[in-house]
Amino acid sequence: MLDDILDYTEHIREQPVWQRIPRPVRDRFRQPLPQKPANLGSIHNQFMRDILPYSVGNAHPGFMGWVHGGGTPVGMLAEMLAAGLNANLGGRDQIPLEVERQVVRWVRELFGFPDTASGLFVTGTSMANLIAVLVARTDTLGTSVRRQGIAATGKRLMAYTSAGAHSSIAQAMDLAGLGSDRLRIIPVNQQYQIDIQALEEAIAKDKSAGLTPFFIAATAGTVDVGAIDDLTAVAGIAQREKVWFHVDGAYGALAMLARDLAPRLAGIERADSIAFDFHKWGQVPYDAGFVLVRDGTLHHRTFASPAAYLRRETRGMAAGSPWPCDFGPDLSRGFRALKTWFTIQAYGAEKLGDAIAKTCVLAQYLKQSIEKEPALELLAPVALNIVCFRYRCEHADEVNRNIVADLQESGIAAPSTTTVNGCLAIRAAIVNHRTGRNDIDALIQAAMVFGSSHVNRRAKACRA
Ligand SMILES: *Cc1c(COP(=O)(O)O)cnc(C)c1O
Repeated sequence: MLDDILDYTEHIREQPVWQRIPRPVRDRFRQPLPQKPANLGSIHNQFMRDILPYSVGNAHPGFMGWVHGGGTPVGMLAEMLAAGLNANLGGRDQIPLEVERQVVRWVRELFGFPDTASGLFVTGTSMANLIAVLVARTDTLGTSVRRQGIAATGKRLMAYTSAGAHSSIAQAMDLAGLGSDRLRIIPVNQQYQIDIQALEEAIAKDKSAGLTPFFIAATAGTVDVGAIDDLTAVAGIAQREKVWFHVDGAYGALAMLARDLAPRLAGIERADSIAFDFHKWGQVPYDAGFVLVRDGTLHHRTFASPAAYLRRETRGMAAGSPWPCDFGPDLSRGFRALKTWFTIQAYGAEKLGDAIAKTCVLAQYLKQSIEKEPALELLAPVALNIVCFRYRCEHADEVNRNIVADLQESGIAAPSTTTVNGCLAIRAAIVNHRTGRNDIDALIQAAMVFGSSHVNRRAKACRA
């Protein structure tokens, strides 16, 4: 198994990024519950034949869809060790928790947070954003809200984020019972950053209407175009208005590791909470999300529970309080910290930062290649590692949607789509440390071929 998966990683370039799943392969996953044991070798053979070739392909250097990390063999091996230990990191006195606490200390150091800040591994930024909303809610309403609910307070809490924010912010408001209608979507400026003046006006208007502004979610690296909100300006407003300042830095926050990019996140050190993923730009295998909260005591008071079977002691295995289960909704938790600890040590912060910087250099290279090609058109500024462009033609939305599907099905490159100013864009998010210039060249070349073939086909259909 180890040989096969290392071979897969070594030779991934020779394989298509993605391929359509043949019907018979899909059908082989419609079996009744097995009653008897099967031979491990034959199960592994099924994995090699039916599973390995048909994943989404984000380990492949040609994968540029959504925002997916590439993973590393170091992370993979650490994950194997973690599975062997089968540690449950909900709590108790065990060294795996010290590994997690070590990573928490590194994260505090990276973002310039105090020793009293708390941190927690979670599935991903969606969960981290939810935890941040819940802690901010406790900050505004007090811990009694945990028993009495929001309605009892009679307050109408309002949150703010930009039109470029990820949908998980609205989802967090929904799941927290505050309601996604209580999230004001603030327009963006020409750089796709939150419009600061519009944000101030929205807060002022809500206050005068008797509502309670409690939470601003700025984004460091928007998912559509990679914009970074003016974090210093947002921090200033949050401080003045006494509103929680959260940063959704799902992929962008780790730009702190890259010397030339870090200054663009100025203001992040003033955040009340930061959500980000080690599994995106950090190249740690899925899943490894993280939430950092400046006020660790408040974070603890938002989730800690006095259940008798979770009683803490000063000696024995039940020592070592507070436990991670006091900082989020999960009681049983895997050892996500181990693959992160391995990754950070094996590569070092500088090299991880270099890989992040390289993806932004490649994005500029892609931007320049688009600008050199008259048939292609850039659709948004390239702030980080995300490039939105399209093939120029009539019926551009339909043609470009087809170009993306053709690219994905060809196995050459796998961008995804988004909508920019009402136009369908081919969106390339370069996240994988394996991606190089040749992958960018292949993307451009194939997009040109598929684009002109769609245009020709349309012209032929018209003549007929
Ligand atoms: C990916 C992403 C998320 C969601 O993170 P998950 O780890 O997929 O839950 C949230 N916000 C932004 C800006 C993202 O890029």
